[in-house]
Order: sequence, then C-alpha cells, then structure tokens
Amino acid sequence: MAYFINVILPIPLERHFTYSVSLEEAELLKTGMRVAVPFGKSKIYTGLVESVHSTPPEIYEAKDIHEVLDEHPIVAPIQFRHWQWIADYYMCTLGEVMRSALPGAFLLESETLVLRNENAPVDELSLKDDEFLIFEALQHQSTLKIQEIAAIIDRKNALPVLQRLLEKKAIRLKEEVYEQYKPKLVRYVRLTDVYADDQKLEKLLQSLSRAPKQSQVVLAVFQLQGNSKKPISVADLEKSANVSRAIIKSLVDKDILEEYFIQKDRINYERIGEKSPSKGLNEHQEKALADINENFEKQKVTLLKGITSSGKTEVYVKLIESYIEKGKQVLYLLPEIALTTQLIARLRDYFGEKISVYHSKYNVQERVEVWNNVLSGEPKAQIVIGARSAMLLPFNHLGLIIVDEEHESSFKQFDPAPRYHARDAAIVLGSLHGANIILGSATPSIESFHNAQTRKYGYAEINRRYGNVLLPDVELVDIKEAHRKKRMKGHFSERLLEEINKTLEAGEQVILFQNRRGYAPILECSTCGHTPQCPNCDVSLTYHQYRKQLRCHYCGHHTALPENCQACGSPELDTKGFGTEQIEQEVKALFPDVKVGRMDLDTTRGKHGYEKIITAFEQQEIAILIGTQMLTKGLDFRNVNLVGVMNADALLNFPDYRAHERSFQLLTQVAGRAGRTKKRGKVIVQSYNPYHQILKQVSTGDYKGMYAEQLYEREQYKYPPVNRIIKITFKHKNYNVLNEAADWFCNALKTNFGGNVLGPEYPPVARIRNQYLKHLMIKMDKRETIGRTKLNIKRIEKSFHAISMYRSVRVIYNVDHI
Ligand code: ADP
Ligand code: ZN
Ligand code: ZN
Repeated sequence: MAYFINVILPIPLERHFTYSVSLEEAELLKTGMRVAVPFGKSKIYTGLVESVHSTPPEIYEAKDIHEVLDEHPIVAPIQFRHWQWIADYYMCTLGEVMRSALPGAFLLESETLVLRNENAPVDELSLKDDEFLIFEALQHQSTLKIQEIAAIIDRKNALPVLQRLLEKKAIRLKEEVYEQYKPKLVRYVRLTDVYADDQKLEKLLQSLSRAPKQSQVVLAVFQLQGNSKKPISVADLEKSANVSRAIIKSLVDKDILEEYFIQKDRINYERIGEKSPSKGLNEHQEKALADINENFEKQKVTLLKGITSSGKTEVYVKLIESYIEKGKQVLYLLPEIALTTQLIARLRDYFGEKISVYHSKYNVQERVEVWNNVLSGEPKAQIVIGARSAMLLPFNHLGLIIVDEEHESSFKQFDPAPRYHARDAAIVLGSLHGANIILGSATPSIESFHNAQTRKYGYAEINRRYGNVLLPDVELVDIKEAHRKKRMKGHFSERLLEEINKTLEAGEQVILFQNRRGYAPILECSTCGHTPQCPNCDVSLTYHQYRKQLRCHYCGHHTALPENCQACGSPELDTKGFGTEQIEQEVKALFPDVKVGRMDLDTTRGKHGYEKIITAFEQQEIAILIGTQMLTKGLDFRNVNLVGVMNADALLNFPDYRAHERSFQLLTQVAGRAGRTKKRGKVIVQSYNPYHQILKQVSTGDYKGMYAEQLYEREQYKYPPVNRIIKITFKHKNYNVLNEAADWFCNALKTNFGGNVLGPEYPPVARIRNQYLKHLMIKMDKRETIGRTKLNIKRIEKSFHAISMYRSVRVIYNVDHI
C-alpha cells in the first residue's frame, strides 16, 4: 500500500499539498510534525503534517518528502482548530496562519539566509563533520543561502544540519534582532545621612570654607536636588558645580557624599531575588474581582472597566494567582510589548521565574525556547506575556486569558495576512480551551462595551483611583482665540506655560503629547506653494530637522533637504504643520535649563530606544517628556503631575468613523498619566475647538455619554458593532488596470449584496511603493451568516482571477477592518 501525508506549506495557496512517504515514515509521522519537502522546480520548504493517509492525490503525482524534521509534534491539536478558525474568519490560508504562528527557526526554507552567530562561543570539536563544513564556510562568507549550504555539504536537504547548528547556537538567521538590553549603570551621589539636618550642614560648609571647590560641590548638590530630592547624577553635578570628578571623589572619600547606582534591569531577570506577595485589594478592587469570578463561573468573557490607575493590574494578579494554583497556563496579552517593560518587571516581582515573555522581535532561539516550554507545559512558561502573536503559542491547558488595554487598535494585525484581531481570536482560543477571558481597559472599545451592555459579556468596574487620588483636572484651552490675540509662544498657550512652570518649580515632571499622525511637518515653498512629494507614493515628504532630511513615512524614501524649491528655484522654503521635533525645539528655547526628552518613532527606533527613554524619565533625568501616542500606553510614572496636549484637533478631524472613539480613548489615557500617586494631576488640552463634544466628554470623564452617542451614529451609518465590515483592497502597478479591476469586482459584489457595498474608492494615500490602491467596503448585517458571505466573495474572486488582465491584481481582505 502507498502512504501519503497532507502538508500545510507556509505560502498563500488555498490547498494543502500531498506528498508520498514510506511505510516507516507513515508510522513515525504524526499531525503537527514538520517535514522538509521539495516544492516547484528547486525550492525546499518546511511543511507541517496535517494528516497521514493512503489516498493518492487526483490531479498530480505526489513527490517524496526530503526528510522528517521532528520526533514529536510541535503544534498542539487545539492549535490546528484555532488556526482553521483564523483562516476561515479572516479569509486567508492556513499556510499564512502557520507562517505567522511558528517562530522563523521552525520554518527554514531554501531562501532563508544564514549567518555565523558571533554572540556565542562555539566549541568546534563538538561539531559534526557536516556542521563544521558549514561553520567554516561562514567564516569566509558572511551570509549563505540554504541552497548554497546544501551544495557545500553536498546534500539535497540541509535543514536538519542547520537545525542542529541553531540548537548549538553556532549560527543565526538573518532578520533577527539580537541585542539584549543592558541598561547602563548611572552613578548618582547624595549627601550622607549625617548632614540631613541644617545645623550639621552649616558646620560642614564652615569646615569647607578653605576648600572652595568642595563647598561649591555641596552647594550644587543642594541646588540640584531642590525640594524634590531627585537623584543627582555625577555627570550633572560635575557640570553644574564646574569641578572635576576628582573633587567629587574626595568628598565621597570623606563620607560627606555617598555614591549609589540606580539600575532598572528590564529584560534580564536572572538575578531577581525574593518574590513579593501580592497586594491586598481595596474594597472596589475586591468587588470587581468578585464580579469577575461570578461571571467566570458562568464561563462568560468579562469586561473590566477600571479608570486609569484604579489598580486593574493588581486585580489581574489575583486572578493569575488562582489559575496558577490550579496548574493552568495563563496568557497575558498586551498591545505593544516594547512599552510594557514596566508591567513585566511588576509581574516578575510577584511570579518570578514562572513568566515567559514572547514577542516577534525577540531572537529566534528565545522564541523557540518559549514555544517548546509552552508546548511541554514547563512551569517557567506557565504565564506568558506577549503582544498579539503570543496568542499563537502551543498552549495545552490554558486556564485564563487577560487582554489588557483591550481597546488598542494595535491588537489588529494589519499586514501581512492573517489580518486577525488578537482580542477576538483570543476569545475563540479561550473557548476552545474552556478558559476564562478578561478584557481590561479604562476606555473600552465600543464593541466590547456594547457586548457587556447586551449581556453577551460579563461586566465589572472600578471607578476610583487607587488611594482615592482624584482623576486629573482637565482644562480646555482655546488656542484659536489665543492665536488671534497673538498670545501664543510658538505652539504654547499662556496657560500651558504657566502650568509647566508651576510643575517644574514643584520638582515634578511634565508630559507633552503631540499626535503626529496626519500632522507631520512638511516643506512648502513660500513663493509658489510647491511641496516636495515622494516619487513612489502619493504623499508629501515630511521634514526631519534632526537629520536635515525629507522622508516618506510610507516607503522610507529620503533625500537631503533641498536649498531651493525644485519647482521655482526660490530659496524661501518654510515648514508647515508641527511634529514632536518642533515642539522639542520650542521647549528647549523656552526652558533652556530643563532636561527634555522626546519619545516617538524616530527616537525609539534603535534597539532599546523605548527602555532608555522610559528609564531616563523614571529616574527623573528628564523633566519634560514630549511624545506621540506611544506615551499613552499603560505607563506608570510616579512624579508626573502635568500632561499637556498640544493640539487635539488633528485627532478629532481624522477621517475615520472611529476618530471620535479613538480621540476619547487616547486623550483619556494620556491624561491618565498625570497625578497617579499623591496629589491630583493637571491636564491642559489645547484646541481650536474646545467646545467639541468629545473634548467635553474627556474633561468630565463621561465615557457613557461618548458611548451612547457613538453607538447611535454607528447604528445610523451601519458600522460596527451594529454591522460587520469587510474591507477589500486592490493593488496594482497600472492605474487603468486597477480601476477596471476594482469596478468589475465591485459590480459583481453589488449584484450579490446590493447597497451594502461601498466604493471602490482611493484611500488618502492612493499609491504606495509605486503600487496603486483602491478600497471597497462591505457592510454586513450581523445576523447574516458570515460563512456564506465569504464563500460568495471567494467565488467572485475566482471568476475575477480567471480574467487574464486581472490575474496580477492583488486582492487583500481585511475582515473587521479597524
Ligand atoms: P491601572 O492598571 O488600573 O492603571 P495600576 O494597577 O497600575 O492601575 O495601579 C496604579 C498604582 O496603584 C500602581 O502603582 C499600583 O502599584 C498601586 N496599587 C493598585 N492597587 C493596589 C493595592 N491593592 N495595594 C497597593 N497598591 C496598589
Ligand atoms: Zn517654489
Ligand atoms: Zn514613499
């Protein structure tokens, strides 16, 4: 009898592929094991066994596999069902889901680039002959393709050897980020306790009267620490006292000053000592926890709405504790892992080595380790914290899923497929496991709140900040009026400047929020009005002062700043719009003695850019932090008392049906960074339109008012949560072909779905990387069976791609587009 396996390949083709295997292989192979298989003329792929059977394929002759790559399945049975759901719901292939789920190291293929791993010592003697051949070849050539490696070792298939080399850490794969974050140790000084009281201090100064440099230092320490007792770095002290390090050292030797270090170790947790017991909850938290547990008993997904700094995390901690005790796995999903080092540190404190962090930016080896630990149910991966891809790990006894900041749109994967929403896909995963699910937010998405209102979800809330600190006082400032009366300094109103001064004087910190989206600075000729455009995309280039460049945010194209207008030759070029960079400049000019930091895509792009800036701000080396939406996500700074929103209008005017919901969420979250500990914080929102309903709702914390209004609008215009939407994007390099193709598709849809098809339309940026784009949108009644609709759409796509002119038009589905 002949034996066959069905294999899922990591490519966007609908079908699985059938390969033939020997009897021994058939006995050995199980669903979820990997095999190396030939594909097309010369490609080798890693595929995943879906089933073993004895039915030959009908239309083609099955090829033999190259090799079996695993001894045990690396994918859990429930995962297959989950992947299938994702593929069906989000209209993509199982192969695409698999590619997104498996760490790259599991998916070696002929095109993968291999490098030597300089970061780990390799015992050459431990390498087998074929391994050594590759290792040696990589000494001479920095990268090799897997095909080339196969030639070097003279084998059809190099994957098993490479797998071994990866395990020995002798090689690594291209495209990974390897650096570990090593925080630098900052040296600080303070006066020793002896000189804490004024009399002793006076005596000290007298005794130093013949050592003017030393007394200069002591005075400088005083000045720098102000009344907030903030840490003083040696570097700052040197500058401000204008003395050499030797003088400071002599004071340390005399025990007048003492040195200390602050190190907030963020990624490297090995040296963590004692675990802390979890905190006792206050009555509001207790009530929320009881409500959650009651809903959990009924197996209901539960929404926890707790205002900023109400202590939602401590409630999660209690929940985690109880599931860990039962030996269950816990998944903690976050919108963006880079920003959550604070949270990870906090949870490590409670759960120590039980926590694994999983993120697509981590290196291959780490990801494989977490994968294997989750698969085999190791205690050290009992709690997994991660961004959306962590949901694709091979859990086998998942008990609890926490989706923190559930309203965040970054839970939705935009590109490539699968374009899934991690919150929604996690809910399905939870139900496959019989696990409980908690969604948490201070500003829930309209969808989730709607589900709670209609009792599809359970609901719990906390309406007090922990420690009864009041929510910050939000003041709306009319900058239209201020501009008219010429009372602005740059982009700062008098009120904002006043509050900044007050805050700095009190030794507290300031956050300034500048939303960059749709408001990037561009260059404009004052003579003819010409604005430089990207040659590949239909957008204006944005001006980057720091690098003296014009850049395209869509394709990365950049040029040096021109000296003259390219259209008319005039040298009078002006910048329009304002971004974080310009705000930073203005702040530096307005507050020359104050340390200023900036947090946006540009300053955080480096390996550990986020951590560096967050640490510096936490350690109060920075007094004013300027940033984009990155600043809004779950950060807990102790000493921030003022948040300034430079301009709320760009948010409100964003052309999207979610603009108001988003503005409310963003502004409430950014406001929530102020006054988290002792006293009430202050928020100044500058706007040309301070009477806008949403701003009023933000200032009064009226979530329910916002919800009611938005829901009404969504009902009127048939948007989610009332209806379901599928967005279809067409992409082609030829403008005319694209237009015709989109019209054809749209007409076919309209015959099927009638008036619920909108478009086709050009998006605001209608050409990216020389590809033209057109969108259309289908609004579906929630009662319609979505499965049938999708089948219809796919059928239309089939006829569409049968037309030769349209064959090369890409069709991209985005279900529940947000
Ligand atoms: P949220 O996630 O709701 O914004 P956090 O969980 O970050 O709020 O809590 C805000 C602050 O209050 C944190 O510094 C936290 O340590 C503290 N806190 C919250 N609950 C408690 C508690 N029960 N006991 C002690 N401190 C708490
Ligand atoms: Zn010009
Ligand atoms: Zn471009």
